[in-house]
Amino acid sequence: MQRGNSPETARSAQDTAWYCFQLGKPEMGLRYVAQAVAIWHDLDQPAFEAQALSIQAWLHLELGQLEEAVALAAEALDIADQSGDPRTRSLAINVTGVIFWMSRQPPLAIDYCGRAVALAREAGDASFECWWLINLGGSHAEAAYLALDAGDRASFDAAMGPAIDVTRSAYALAQSLGDGWAERLCLGNLAEYFNAAEDFIGAEQFLARFRAITSEDDARGEGHYLDILGRTLVSLKRYEEALVPLQHAHALASINGNVETLMFACLYLSKAHEHLRAFEPALDFHKRYHSLHQQFTAERAQRNARLADIRYETKKLRMLLDTEAVRTAEIARSFEALQQQTTLLTEAANTDPLTGLGNRRRLEAVLDAVDAAGEGYALAVLDVDHFKAINDTHSHIIGDRVLIGLGGLIKGSLRGADLAVRFGGEEFVVLMAGVTCAQAKRACERMRLTVARHDWSAVAAGLTVTVSIGIGVSVEGPDARDILEIADRNLYRAKQGGRNRVIVSPRPAPPRLR
Ligand code: GH3
Ligand code: MG
Ligand code: MG
Repeated sequence: MQRGNSPETARSAQDTAWYCFQLGKPEMGLRYVAQAVAIWHDLDQPAFEAQALSIQAWLHLELGQLEEAVALAAEALDIADQSGDPRTRSLAINVTGVIFWMSRQPPLAIDYCGRAVALAREAGDASFECWWLINLGGSHAEAAYLALDAGDRASFDAAMGPAIDVTRSAYALAQSLGDGWAERLCLGNLAEYFNAAEDFIGAEQFLARFRAITSEDDARGEGHYLDILGRTLVSLKRYEEALVPLQHAHALASINGNVETLMFACLYLSKAHEHLRAFEPALDFHKRYHSLHQQFTAERAQRNARLADIRYETKKLRMLLDTEAVRTAEIARSFEALQQQTTLLTEAANTDPLTGLGNRRRLEAVLDAVDAAGEGYALAVLDVDHFKAINDTHSHIIGDRVLIGLGGLIKGSLRGADLAVRFGGEEFVVLMAGVTCAQAKRACERMRLTVARHDWSAVAAGLTVTVSIGIGVSVEGPDARDILEIADRNLYRAKQGGRNRVIVSPRPAPPRLR
């Protein structure tokens, strides 16, 4: 490992690049992020490398270098996808969404920014969730602006609604996180959206809140704020007040060469001066607006031509993302299969393979539920009489067939709500819900007779089978385990009493009268 190629160096370079992005200093950010990408690559840390590449792509996007951004985002997506880390994937997918947004493809932008939000939530990263929501809002707003350009007012309204809703929820999240940068971003955007929707009072309220949050050095946010404030004040006919932010925005845009902002600053400065009856500067700004407008239109034509190429390029991204979607679906499917398998395994673990009845585990699970339900029930323990003799006289195989036959007979005599399990060996337990002691005894008598009268000759010539049954009812003890023990004691009494019989607990003797 080279000197300085430590994860700490990479992490700090990556963080610095992100701060540069937040502060609107993309060129500086690019120098740091390139270092981070190289170190993560050397250290073979694909998830971090993908994160750094995503930031690199985003910084290029900030500089209007769409081609570079697309190439880097594709690489980031690819590596992020392999890493399988939802947080890394959410960042890479978000940047791709922003690329679609900037290349004026709002439906795709909305789709991918939305997916980035969902992944951030899955990863439990509230900051990512908040930031990607802001981009989702921007993507919706882009759809609204395109509708406005096409003169489609209804579609504008339909798209601006979600833009505002999504940005509001991002704002609430930013507030709860104490993320002032995101708060300012949300407020600036909300002011812009309200301004576009011609709710100037609403816009001004957001701008006032924006002012209340101080920031050290946020050139990007500041320029946006001044631009929207100037426009809003002109729309509110507060021309004198509007001059200050507009002149400020004009100065900032002249420095950073943002033709669009400069153009609008000139237009609104001209309007403000005109209303203030200062016709000379009004005319001057209007001339400047006119020439900037020509420049902007020419640049836009060029940009649109480039966008055609970019759209072609972004097809690559789309294909990558589609693969990603397929993978997600595959994971979901295999998860479903796994769940089904688990269900089958649980089922198997609770089933007695010989008789197909439930086993002791099934009973244990149900007994807990029975106690919790708090309704009356009876438990019957049923044991084959002289089963050892059946095994000895005939064979174990015949013994097994007797158990299978018994399972069928018991099951056939149950009501839907009852449960029969093979408790072990030649012992069965039946749970009867909502019965009195007398009802349980009658049901067990029927079961005993069914077994005794059954024609067992199909199993073995001359074979007879009888069972003894002990019963416990819920009123006899505090919980199901006690009732089972009582049933077992009554079974013992049934055996003692000569077998082939059903025994319930003796009634307590009535109090003797003196
Ligand atoms: P009792 O009337 O007192 O219940 O007499 P019993 O012979 O039925 O009682 P005991 O508990 O002495 O014998 C139970 C026998 O059940 C012993 C064991 O070999 C047999 N057994 C337990 N599980 C199985 C099984 O899955 N298949 C077969 N064929 N026999 C089993
Ligand atoms: Mg036994
Ligand atoms: Mg027995």
